[in-house]
Amino acid sequence: MSIPIYTYDAIIVGAGLAGCAAARELQNAGKKVAVITKLHPLRSHSGAAQGGINAAFSDKDSVELHEFDTVKGSDYLADQDAVEFMCQKAPETIRWAERMGAAFSRTPDGKIAQRPFGGQSSPRACYAKDRTGLTLLQTIYEQAHRVGVKFWDEWYAADLIYKDGKVSGVVAFNIRDMQIAIFNAKSVMFATGGYARAFKINSNAHANTGDGLSIVARHGLPLEDMEFVQFHPSGLSGNGVLISEAARGEGGRLFNSKGERFMEKYAPNALELASRDVVSRAIINEIREGRGVGPRKDAVFLDVTHLGKDLIMERLPELRDLAITFLGLDMIQEPILISATAHYSMGGIPVNTAGNVRKNNTEFIEGFYAAGECSCVSVHGANRLGANSVLEALLFGRFVGKTMVSEIDNIELRTATQADAQTALDEINWILQNNGDETVPGLREELQQGMTANAGAFRTKESLAAQIVIINDLRSRFKNIRIQDKSKVFNTELQEAIEFGHMLDYSLFIVESAIARNESRGAHFREDFENRDDENFLKHTMAYMNENGEITLDYMDVVLGKHELKARTY
Ligand SMILES: Cc1cc2nc3c(=O)[nH]c(=O)nc-3n(C[C@H](O)[C@H](O)[C@H](O)COP(=O)(O)OP(=O)(O)OC[C@H]3O[C@@H](n4cnc5c(N)ncnc54)[C@H](O)[C@@H]3O)c2cc1C
Repeated sequence: MSIPIYTYDAIIVGAGLAGCAAARELQNAGKKVAVITKLHPLRSHSGAAQGGINAAFSDKDSVELHEFDTVKGSDYLADQDAVEFMCQKAPETIRWAERMGAAFSRTPDGKIAQRPFGGQSSPRACYAKDRTGLTLLQTIYEQAHRVGVKFWDEWYAADLIYKDGKVSGVVAFNIRDMQIAIFNAKSVMFATGGYARAFKINSNAHANTGDGLSIVARHGLPLEDMEFVQFHPSGLSGNGVLISEAARGEGGRLFNSKGERFMEKYAPNALELASRDVVSRAIINEIREGRGVGPRKDAVFLDVTHLGKDLIMERLPELRDLAITFLGLDMIQEPILISATAHYSMGGIPVNTAGNVRKNNTEFIEGFYAAGECSCVSVHGANRLGANSVLEALLFGRFVGKTMVSEIDNIELRTATQADAQTALDEINWILQNNGDETVPGLREELQQGMTANAGAFRTKESLAAQIVIINDLRSRFKNIRIQDKSKVFNTELQEAIEFGHMLDYSLFIVESAIARNESRGAHFREDFENRDDENFLKHTMAYMNENGEITLDYMDVVLGKHELKARTY
């Protein structure tokens, strides 16, 4: 039976903020767009964003300050042309989202309210209570629908059609019945989100398995700066569920078992609102040195009781609910238990400011784009500031959509053939037919434990080398898996096996990139090289996977600019 081929002008994989914003631009400009998404769009992780979205527009703030904070936060690894673009377009993006229908929280005099976030010189995060992402996602999704974007909900993109250096679409299957189809198009955009699920303790949705990155990498294309994974200071103790930085932004304080407000030692000026890498390492250090709290002594206290019930109920109601549900602690009455959680991926599919995907340091791939958390543009460098990534997803999603509109008429459609689906079909068939004695949940647990222990907020050459051995062992055992469910109806076991294959591949990128970076910068902290080394490592990692599955590394210059290199203190 032949595989159906659907033809569009543009295919977008991912229906979070980046994917929905791009799709709306394209369709609104009269292009025929399909969005393929393994989740219902409103289940995308963008909807989990709580704290806010940055834009400098108050009297006390400026675009230059936003740029400076972002570059400093990035530990000078961000590309300054991209940072300038983002910070300059941020106020306009907020106004655009508002005109689209997003209802932001407001000050008593009717202006859009803004709260302080870590590493920022001024209260800059616009918010809708602590449901900012959901408010934005609902708005942009509705607007994409209104202009007629076709959403292929619960379709899993399994492969990119990439031949002779050119892109001609995507192969996907319907999660409901495993029906496979080819989506043929002049241009393709990946907006597949983040990948912190490779770590045991993480704040991410189950779907954040980095599929888009591994799909791209398997075609021999590069991934940039994969060693930079952000550990957020406040995950609920034990499970990593996020308590937004909004809690510290509104005035929350951190205490150890001796009742000390320990951030006074680590960041005397910014305290709890130093950048995330600094606060996370401080928390882990307090726990390591025996000043942890809670039944396992593996947490610290986050205290917001002094803010009072009214403020907590007005601005942090979801956070309160989360702590009650998962820990049985009511933050109105008592401090809650938190510790660092793997949260965000700074690295990803390398793109320029217009969203064109890089083939290498100098060449780009015609008709292929990426935006949002799966991409690396790079506005976050070695460490992202809170409330800059919803901004990145929405802003670059929208502007990359505009790039696609402007380039699409000059791209020739390369007709897809049945053979284009072969790799995806082979992958599905071997997983269904394999009869080994390993299980995916068993292997995944080992990967996640190892990544948290060996490639977490603190790393050494030895721990990273040990993790490479673990990943290579898991890769060979993965060939020996067996899934119980051999059916073709909502076969989530099969999907999880495919996703785990992706996790293995991009985890190797993280670890191989990290072991070669003999310095500490932003979220990448090497205990054996505690200082930043601008002479040797002020450069982006560009990692490639060869046909044997091995990683080779190259480097690319950082785009510097008016913000000069300085030591980073808070
Ligand atoms: C708990 C939490 C709170 C956060 N809070 C904030 C905040 O307050 N402020 C801030 O700036 N940032 C925050 N972030 C980060 C921010 O939310 C994300 O970086 C951003 O929303 C990512 O948007 P995206 O469009 O790139 O991807 P996502 O919203 O993650 O969407 C990814 C999409 O890709 C699709 N997809 C993936 N793989 C496939 C596949 N193989 N086939 C088909 N579809 C696929 C999914 O279905 C989904 O639609 C938070 C993150 C978390 C986890």
